Order: sequence, then C-alpha cells, then structure tokens
Amino acid sequence: MPKKTNRREFLKSLGAGSLGIALSAHAVFGQNKKSCVVIGAGFSGLAAAYKLKMAGWNVTVLEARDRIGGRVFSYSLPQNKDLICELGAEWVGESHERIKALCADFKIPLQKHQFDDYLLQNGKVSRPGAWGFSKDAEAAFAKAKDGYEKLSAVQERKLDNLDWWTYLEKIGFSEDDLRLRDLMDSTDFGESIRHVSAYGALAEYAESSPKNEMDYKMTGGNSRLAQEFAARIGAENIRTGTLVSEVIQWKGTVSVKTADETLKADAVICTVPTQSLLKIKFNPPLPTAQREAAEKLIYARICKNSVLYDERFWKDENFSMVSDVTSHYYFHSTQNQPGSQGILTSYAIGEKADVLASQSDERRMRIITNDLVDFDREAPNLAKGIASYAWQRDKYTDGAYALYRPGQWFGIRPILQRPHGKVLFAGEHLADWQGFMEGAIETGESAAESLIK
Ligand SMILES: Cc1cc2nc3c(=O)[nH]c(=O)nc-3n(C[C@H](O)[C@H](O)[C@H](O)COP(=O)(O)OP(=O)(O)OC[C@H]3O[C@@H](n4cnc5c(N)ncnc54)[C@H](O)[C@@H]3O)c2cc1C
Repeated sequence: MPKKTNRREFLKSLGAGSLGIALSAHAVFGQNKKSCVVIGAGFSGLAAAYKLKMAGWNVTVLEARDRIGGRVFSYSLPQNKDLICELGAEWVGESHERIKALCADFKIPLQKHQFDDYLLQNGKVSRPGAWGFSKDAEAAFAKAKDGYEKLSAVQERKLDNLDWWTYLEKIGFSEDDLRLRDLMDSTDFGESIRHVSAYGALAEYAESSPKNEMDYKMTGGNSRLAQEFAARIGAENIRTGTLVSEVIQWKGTVSVKTADETLKADAVICTVPTQSLLKIKFNPPLPTAQREAAEKLIYARICKNSVLYDERFWKDENFSMVSDVTSHYYFHSTQNQPGSQGILTSYAIGEKADVLASQSDERRMRIITNDLVDFDREAPNLAKGIASYAWQRDKYTDGAYALYRPGQWFGIRPILQRPHGKVLFAGEHLADWQGFMEGAIETGESAAESLIK
C-alpha cells in the first residue's frame, strides 16, 4: 500500500528523533564504536542489519524463531521435495523497486507469477474474462482511482474514517458488485472489506501496478533473499531461538535482555509486529499513546493451505480462482516449476481462515479439495498431501499482516513510527508499502540510514 508518501518521507518521519539518537550515541560511545542490536530477523530486520554492516557497524540480530525470514517462509512438502510453495509472502510487485534491486544485486532471478482468475460463485464456474463488475461499478471505480491523487489532506482523513464497503456503496456499487469486490479485495487485506480503511484500500488500488503487485516471485523461493542477507551479515551475528524480553535505557545507554544475556549497544532497531512488541518490557516504558496504538492494531486472519496434486488438472499454468466457498482464493503455487505434479494453494481469509485452521489436516484437505469439485470432480482423488499455515495462530504475529481499520491509517500509524529514545521501530506495519515485503525492507533500510547519517 504505497500511500502517497515514499521512503524519503518515512525517513523524515524518523527525522529529528532518530538524528538525535545518532548524535547522542556518538557523544556517549565515541565515533568508532557503533553498534546496533536488531530485534527480529524478518525482511525488515535483515535489511536494516545488512545496511548497517555495509556501513561498518557492529550488528547483532536477535530472532525468537528457530529460523530467519519471519513471515517469508518457503516450503516443500515431504511428498515432493522438488516443488516449492510459499506459506508466507508470495508475490513481488512490479512497483517494488527495493526488493527488485536487492534480488538483482544478490543474483536471485525473479520469475513471472501472474494469474488469470476464474470465478466460482454459487456453484458456477466462469472462465477468465467471462465475469466481472457492472459497467456502472467499473466507471465509478475508475473515477475514484483518478480522484485519488487530487484528494486534500482533509478528504484523505474523511476517507480513512470510512470502511471500503461503505465507500463503494456510496459511489454507486450495487449489492452484487459489492459482494464480488469483497471476494476479491478481501484477499489483499485478509479480512472482509467491511473492516478495511477506505483510504487504505483506495491507495492500494490507485498506486499499484495493473496486476495489483501480484507480478513475480523469487525462483527457488522467497526465503532465498533472507539467506542472501544472512550470508552478508554473517551467521555469527544472527542468533535464532533468542527471544528479547526487555529493552532498558539508562544514563544514555541501551541494553537488550534475552534469557541468556544482556547486550549493550549504541542503538536498537525493533522490527517486531505489534503483538510481539507489547510482550517486550520497555524500561522506561513506551509512552501510553504508543502502547495503546499497538494494542489497537490487529493483524488479518489468513490461513494458507497448499495441496499437492498428482497432476495439474487445472491445465493452465496461470490458473487461479476467486471463489465464494471456504477455501476462498485458489492459485497455482508451482507455476513453471518442473514435473507433472503441482500445488494449488487455497488462501483463506477472515472467518474462513479460522474455520480451516481449526480442522485436522485430513479434514482440511477434504474441505479444500471438495470445494473444487464444481471446477473438476476428480480433484479430491488427485490430492496427495497438504501443508497449512494459519498465521492468526502464529505466536509472534497473531495474524498475517497489519489491518488498518477505519480511522487508523492516520490515527495510529504515525504514533507507532515514533522512536523511543535510542530505539527505532521498523517493519511492514509502519511502511507506506504496508502489507508487503517491500515495506518491511524499506522501513528497515530507512531506520538503518537514519543511524548511519
Ligand atoms: C500469508 C501471508 C501472505 C503474504 N503475502 C505477501 C505477498 O504476496 N507479497 C508481499 O510482498 N508480502 C506479503 N506478505 C507480507 C510480508 O510477509 C510481510 O510484509 C513481511 O515479511 C514482514 O516482514 P517484517 O520484517 O516486517 O516482519 P516479520 O517477518 O514478522 O519479522 C519480525 C520478526 O521478529 C521476530 N520476533 C518477534 N518477537 C520477537 C522477540 N521478542 N524477540 C526476538 N524476535 C522476535 C519474529 O519471529 C519475526 O521473525 C504476506 C504475509 C503473510 C503472512
């Protein structure tokens, strides 16, 4: 979601506070001793650590999980190790300049990952191009997108106070158009559009590339970028299985506590999602407004279910299907990967994600493959195995990505971005490209840059 601001402006938002941090760190520790503890080894933390390392800083990355990458998690099912799917972040967008540049630098090829959507609604399957919105809805949507750049600050805030469903209704969407829009857009936000800031949604659609940032993926899996970062940061500087419990600032120093040790540094970059942030003890405590803002920001419920099939019965490598059934959105995860077997992933959101998350693997696979019989009645017989990840049950995120609800984009995001003494914050939830790997990287890099300056 690139919301009219850009990386430079995020840097400015760190601005005076972060400059103060850099200066005071130098004053206390002297020019030659620059060190930073980065909390979290997702893309934000890794991008920050890489940038600092390149600038000659000592960095230590502390990661609670036993793996790096955070919400980027490439995976192979045991039944077919040659095929790779993504249980976390999937797409790199055409407009995601930083991630594209890093992939080029690190020699990670990007491959096309675009789809042509079928629609499965009320048991009826419609081919790509044979379904869509009414002409009136198309025209109203185009007009709204055209008007986005001209919105005044007051109009932006008004829009932020509305939910996307209500806004679309106001501009003339019929009930059928609204329901279709909800099926499609809820995949982007992870919850029904009744819960999404209209400003957030309009910004996403007005500024994204035509395929809505669903353009590429990294050949060999998106986790490759995490590994390339780690190789350059140095394995000795990254500690997995290390939960940060406390951040203490005392007489111009900052220390980070884990179960085994206390690390002192000139600065800290904290990249954890808000529910994890609330579990870290800050001494002195976070200001009340910042704590309350973190409490208010919830994360979307998304359950990704990758089912391996003996053959690619969907035939088209670009196959995807928007649906009104529990499995919600299907797409071909192993597009252009070798072999005759293939993985179709169901990307279920909101209540549907909760329903699927509470089933056993066997029942989940039955539901997901049975949901496909209107497309191909053989689907249940061809299924060989399933890998699922319910992000709403992930103990470090409590959801997939931040969900800015009505009033929250302008209401709480700026508060969450504020530095706390020598602690800078970064992560997907604070980014202009919110909800994307690009946003995680941009905020991590910006936090590091503001220290280096
Ligand atoms: C299902 C799903 C689909 C997505 N689809 C896309 C997509 O198609 N395209 C796209 O660009 N993006 C997508 N995203 C979003 C993308 O994954 C995130 O924006 C990005 O990976 C977030 O990176 P981050 O570094 O901000 O946070 P994280 O990756 O969450 O990293 C934070 C790290 O902090 C660690 N941590 C938490 N608490 C502590 C603690 N106390 N001590 C130490 N470590 C701690 C966590 O374990 C985690 O590893 C998707 C995400 C999900 C879940």
